[in-house]
Amino acid sequence: MTQQSTQAILEAQSVTLSYEQHIVAKDLSVDIPEGKFSVIVGPNGCGKSTLLRTLSRLLIPQSGQVLLSGQNIHEQSTRAVAKTLGLLPQSAIAPDGIKVIDLVSRGRFPHQKWFQPWSETDQKAVDMAMHATGIAEFAEINVDQLSGGQRQRVWVAMALAQETSLLLLDEPTTYLDIAHQIELMDLFQDLNRLQGNTLVAVLHDLNHACRYADHLIVMKAGTIIATGAPNEIVTEQLIEQVFGLPCLILDDPISHTPLIIPRGR
Ligand code: ADP
Ligand code: MG
Repeated sequence: MTQQSTQAILEAQSVTLSYEQHIVAKDLSVDIPEGKFSVIVGPNGCGKSTLLRTLSRLLIPQSGQVLLSGQNIHEQSTRAVAKTLGLLPQSAIAPDGIKVIDLVSRGRFPHQKWFQPWSETDQKAVDMAMHATGIAEFAEINVDQLSGGQRQRVWVAMALAQETSLLLLDEPTTYLDIAHQIELMDLFQDLNRLQGNTLVAVLHDLNHACRYADHLIVMKAGTIIATGAPNEIVTEQLIEQVFGLPCLILDDPISHTPLIIPRGR
């Protein structure tokens, strides 16, 4: 094993990921740079969610290891990890009949101790998260009565209420209309730029990925094809190689990042 000095806050070292016999990724290594906004893109089924679950300690790699702040994540306690790292899973299911405020409040779990009552700090974190995601008005409503987009924002609020310096987001903008997508992406960018949090998001929209990512991670069939700043790595050849999609790349006139225009067949 090679020891490197790196600024990665989170890293997978030669991990092999599988569901029983089905191997999703073999010998995969990836670094998540501290204080950056990383975005993972790749076709359906290429292993993005599996990688994110592994990086957040939910899945144990068959071989290799995941290091959080230089220490094997599987040798750290659930609570210790949850104080540093929050995960918004791809398709989370809320407990039946739970109210919005109660679901968001569950984000405070890692900060609570059994002998301490709900504190002002807990309440502030929950209020902040609900306001930031624009769901304060739904506080007393049952989660299952919300639209897909509203519900998605409740999950994001729960992850924000956890107040971790590292946040992993699996398709956080699913179900959202374009305005709410941009609003959330801007919120994540603020968390990164203004508060110095490290973010990792799986996104399907390549143009959003190029706009918001400091560090893009491009995956295909369980392997990392390219990593780096979007302006440095995104080319027509790369998009065609990874997605099988002929495209034209222009300069996004607003952000001056790659703007991908599909050519169709
Ligand atoms: P992505 O997030 O990139 O769409 P996933 O990581 O969800 O891809 O899935 C990668 C591969 O693993 C796919 O072939 C998928 O069918 C398989 N897979 C995902 N979750 C499970 C599971 N719980 N059990 C078995 N196979 C799974
Ligand atoms: Mg996925």
